[in-house]
Amino acid sequence: MNDLSPRRIGPFACPPRIAAAPARGRRSMSPVTAIAGLLLAIAATPAAPAASGGPRTGQIAGGAGARVAIRGEPTQRIAYTVSIDPRRARHFAIHVEMPRPAGSLVFAIPAWTPGYYQILHYEAGIDRVRARDETGRPLAVTHDSPRTWAIDTSQASGGKILLDYDVAAADKGLGFFGSMVDFNRRTGYINGASAFLYAVGETAAPVSLTVTLPQDWQCAVPLDREPTGIYRADSYDELIDSPVQLGAFDTVAFQASGVPFRCIIAGDRRAEPARLRRVLAAIASEEIGLFGGAPFRKYLFIYHVGEAGFIGGLEHRASTVIHLDDPIGDANDDELITTSAHELFHAWNVKRIRPEGLGPFDYSAAVRTPSLWFAEGVTDYYADLTTVRAGIRTPQWFAEQMAQRIRLLDGTPARSKVTLEEASRHAWEGRSEGYDGLSYYVKGCLVGWLLDLQLREMTGDAHSLDDVIRDLDRRFGAADTAYPPGALAEAIERAAGRDQAPLLERYAAATDEIAWGQALNAAGFQLSRQEDGTIGMSVQPEPPVDETDDREEADRAAIVQRVDPDLPAAAMDLRPGDRILTIDGNEVTCGLAGAILRSLPARVPIQVVVERHGRTLTLRGITAPQYSHHALVILPEAARPAAASRILKELFASRAPREDAAIPGRNGQPL
Ligand SMILES: [Zn+2]
Repeated sequence: MNDLSPRRIGPFACPPRIAAAPARGRRSMSPVTAIAGLLLAIAATPAAPAASGGPRTGQIAGGAGARVAIRGEPTQRIAYTVSIDPRRARHFAIHVEMPRPAGSLVFAIPAWTPGYYQILHYEAGIDRVRARDETGRPLAVTHDSPRTWAIDTSQASGGKILLDYDVAAADKGLGFFGSMVDFNRRTGYINGASAFLYAVGETAAPVSLTVTLPQDWQCAVPLDREPTGIYRADSYDELIDSPVQLGAFDTVAFQASGVPFRCIIAGDRRAEPARLRRVLAAIASEEIGLFGGAPFRKYLFIYHVGEAGFIGGLEHRASTVIHLDDPIGDANDDELITTSAHELFHAWNVKRIRPEGLGPFDYSAAVRTPSLWFAEGVTDYYADLTTVRAGIRTPQWFAEQMAQRIRLLDGTPARSKVTLEEASRHAWEGRSEGYDGLSYYVKGCLVGWLLDLQLREMTGDAHSLDDVIRDLDRRFGAADTAYPPGALAEAIERAAGRDQAPLLERYAAATDEIAWGQALNAAGFQLSRQEDGTIGMSVQPEPPVDETDDREEADRAAIVQRVDPDLPAAAMDLRPGDRILTIDGNEVTCGLAGAILRSLPARVPIQVVVERHGRTLTLRGITAPQYSHHALVILPEAARPAAASRILKELFASRAPREDAAIPGRNGQPL
């Protein structure tokens, strides 16, 4: 939770942002005193019969009325059981059973969670790790590195190894990257990477999950569930890609393009179900329509509302968990719409269309890819586009979003030295947003838009970025294969009908300024912005010389206060603390220096004479351009180039299947 950037412009998503949310009263929930059996949704599921011959195992940690979860299958699966012990508040108890391996056995906790490219320290929450064999004999556990626990199986008997441990569950708010449980408030959440140890070398093995809960608690997990109440996952990857929401929450269900969706709303639960259904169904049918089908059989939106002030979401293959800082007053909530569209799009772009390294995962260390800008920035682009195509927002709103992004990029000096690919690789050093000031969300979205417009222009609107992403989906997503770094350029070439590598090279692998004019004008957009100059330096008044010095601050000498490392002042060797004597030969006070620095033209020579430690230095450079007063409009039809109307129409046209077209909120119908 370390993105402290101010409110972004609507796109974003994966890294949650922390907003200064006002403190809110806590809902009081009645304490629960009994533990029941396996639960899904509301109803308790009867315990499974031990019919298939497996041993009865899996004692649930204590509590009145405890029942036993039974896994009766002599399987090679690794079986996880989660339970809550009311005597150990703020903890989950995890029980794991797996076949006894022939060789060594090491369990580990991930160093990160997919979708958030930061090293996390889940190991700090893992406690009381103990192992035994099938006969109950304790096995030695060696914990000689922070994230691993080695089990001595040399003396083990029977066919299984049993592992038990506790997970501290006190994540902020309603949980997000970690786990939380609050028995009294009747709520809990598990982000799998924070709670489920994996057997090293066994992450491809199938997995089962049993959740035992206090009575009256609900459970929502986006995994297939057997009649016995046991959830099944194909692998550890799928297990921890399936968030577990527990306790009291509201549920809203709907269908889009024949696919069932469920929304879970926890926290400050206030939403008008009908509006929520309509807006999410409109978004879902657009995104499903774009790809011609969904990569999931069902999908779960989990909303954590009004807790801890987070805004953002974390994508999963068939679900997402989204934090919103305000109660969902209605389904037109901007954050809800944009973040939901973004996270759902990830079910294709990054989960199914994934760059090498992002599945199967190495959970032990940072995984680097040059393609996060495509995974995140292009997802931001499609999130905004989707809401327009769905009729929820207008093309002018879209233009305003893009203008804000251009303004943000223009105000990012790092754009001249950090490429999108570098920002992607170094996300781990850049708060999962970019690197050294360059956001791959912002520039990635803009480059996605530029590619889309240029493809439309060069092919007479026959092809677009839609074709590129569908191509990647068909070639790699459908084959469940990660795409290599060159795949995007090849897909663009197939869509364009000719090699477009230089275009991608300029904007993703180099730091060229984006040439907006032609691309925007050909599509009927017009960008205006004012160009000024800057050297990237601020000044402050020299302190009073003595008590009798009553000069106004503006009349005192100018002292260099801050130097931007990416702008000319740094290259000129101006340093904080320098006393400015003249600028371009003119003696300056602090007030005058400030005024000159604010009104510099772009790309002109500048000379600054300073005094530093008693020496006089003459420093020279060239001002850099900076832009202000951004505006992006869609030209009226009469002012557009001939092809622009067609491009605009096609850009914003609905992709939803025809049978979904009646969903209110689409195609301009009021929500
Ligand atoms: Zn994202």
